[in-house]
Amino acid sequence: MADVKPVGRFAPTPSGRMHLGNVFAALMAWLAVRSRDGELVLRMEDLDTQRTSEEYARLLREDLAWLGLDYDRETAPQSTRTQTYLAYFRQLEERGLIYPCYCTRSQLHSADAPHLSDGTYVYPGTCRHLTREQRQAFSRSPAWRVRVPDQLWQVEDLIQGTSVWNLARDCGDMVMRRGDGVYVYQLAVTVDDGEAGVNQVVRGMDLLSSAPRQMYLQSLFGFPHPTYAHVPLLLAPDGRRLSKRDQDLDLGKLRRSLRPEQLIGALARAAGLIHGAGPISAGELAREFSWDKLPRDNIFFDPKVLYED
Ligand code: GLU
Repeated sequence: MADVKPVGRFAPTPSGRMHLGNVFAALMAWLAVRSRDGELVLRMEDLDTQRTSEEYARLLREDLAWLGLDYDRETAPQSTRTQTYLAYFRQLEERGLIYPCYCTRSQLHSADAPHLSDGTYVYPGTCRHLTREQRQAFSRSPAWRVRVPDQLWQVEDLIQGTSVWNLARDCGDMVMRRGDGVYVYQLAVTVDDGEAGVNQVVRGMDLLSSAPRQMYLQSLFGFPHPTYAHVPLLLAPDGRRLSKRDQDLDLGKLRRSLRPEQLIGALARAAGLIHGAGPISAGELAREFSWDKLPRDNIFFDPKVLYED
């Protein structure tokens, strides 16, 4: 990949104002591209139209501009791409890879369903072999699942190193379209990244387990696998993940009392990207960026340091 220009992306969910965790993920995606003269794509992940809004999308763009994190193009928001996702869904259907699943939420989460240590469940294939008559006996509209192979997927992550996954063991057959007709994140992201020519995915560590799921779908749709870099999450001093619930740490509040260079300086210092005190702009940071400086583990971040410079 040494001489291939990175095409990266930042893919926020516009369901609230940007908070520190989003700023850090956006900064990393931006640095990974700008430090190597690449291209950055912005995409609004608004599949969940109940939780997201155009107003939050507008504020997100404005916050990115305030931070000095520019992008080269914005692709269509996911809420407008249903017909495209349907075309890919049909490809799976034509290849006999998907089937309807009538399991209810409570069946899927019941005590006898196999659960992993992180609380997620492995779909046991309950509806995989239903006959036509059995399917017709249900009155509700089904979710649609793609069969996953009993096969190993190796994720070579620039920060987290190598991990090996087997979807049959890790999650089971995956939902591609929900009972209400909405296409799921894994399908939409794979299609959107693939069609936009994204070859470098930088995002939060919490999405590492999505990488093998997306690699499987990329292989089905004929998209090349991108390079992955899953960045550590920011944790409050008590170990909680900083999130949209910490409203005093969203940009609406922080922008009233800080300059962008102070915010970026504090985040860069916490991540080990710089050592000296003081503010720094995203552009200055790009000149000395390298993945080797970033820790693998989550980063404890005490918001008090924001006001030290
Ligand atoms: N939309 C997701 C989020 O805001 C990110 C998805 C991704 O980067 O693949 O957490």
